Amino acid sequence: MRLVLVPTPIGHLKDITLRALEVLKEAEVVACEDTRRTGLLLRHYGIPTPTLRLDQHTVGRAKEVLAPYRYVAYATDAGTPGISDPGAELVRLALEWGWRVEALPGPTALIPALVVSGLPTHRFTFEGFLPKGGKERRARLEALAREGRTAVLYESPHRLRKTLEDLLEVYGPHHPVAVARELTKLHEEVYRGTLEGALAHFQEPRGEFVLVLAPKEEAPPEGRALLEALKGEGL
Ligand code: SAM
Repeated sequence: MRLVLVPTPIGHLKDITLRALEVLKEAEVVACEDTRRTGLLLRHYGIPTPTLRLDQHTVGRAKEVLAPYRYVAYATDAGTPGISDPGAELVRLALEWGWRVEALPGPTALIPALVVSGLPTHRFTFEGFLPKGGKERRARLEALAREGRTAVLYESPHRLRKTLEDLLEVYGPHHPVAVARELTKLHEEVYRGTLEGALAHFQEPRGEFVLVLAPKEEAPPEGRALLEALKGEGL
């Protein structure tokens, strides 16, 4: 079995590689989180390959579901399969089953958010979604603050304010942050300022968000100048 992970646009339909389109066309089937969503992409590019649903609830049954096929493309809702989505579990299982797994490079939300943030990029940590609550959440926040690197987090609109509030408690109100919203989409916006400023700015958050936090300790020299510049609101 050949399984190819195919990154798909995080908003703008043109953000897909030529090779990704080729694989989607050549594969026997496109397994995906949501057949409606991936179907739209395939139709947009005139790709007739059939789709099949494989989401977080069904990924454990991938072996049976994909048994009739020899060449499968896998796409998640957006971005790179395996980054904060069921792709990671599929790869773990596929390797256990002895499948050949390939990953195409392509769109993902964390990299554009990081590079547009203006914060140090040479050392960063990707946290994805924080645990929703409890001791584990607090422990992860504190560990992040100790990291001494830029941190990138994903968050849903309805939890954004809570996460900003918790970060503010650990990092302090004046800590520099960039909040990237709706990247590559019509309402793309990047807030650059402080945690306290971000809370004031996003009163009723809508859309998709990536948070990028400056390192709490030991900012490198080239980062320090940037951090000073970012301390002013809305830069
Ligand atoms: N696999 C995806 C990737 O490679 O980025 C991530 C999937 S995860 C389930 C979805 C999260 O990614 C969203 O909650 C948001 O934090 C982030 N995200 C995806 N698209 C985005 C966009 N256009 N703008 C900002 N954040 C986005």
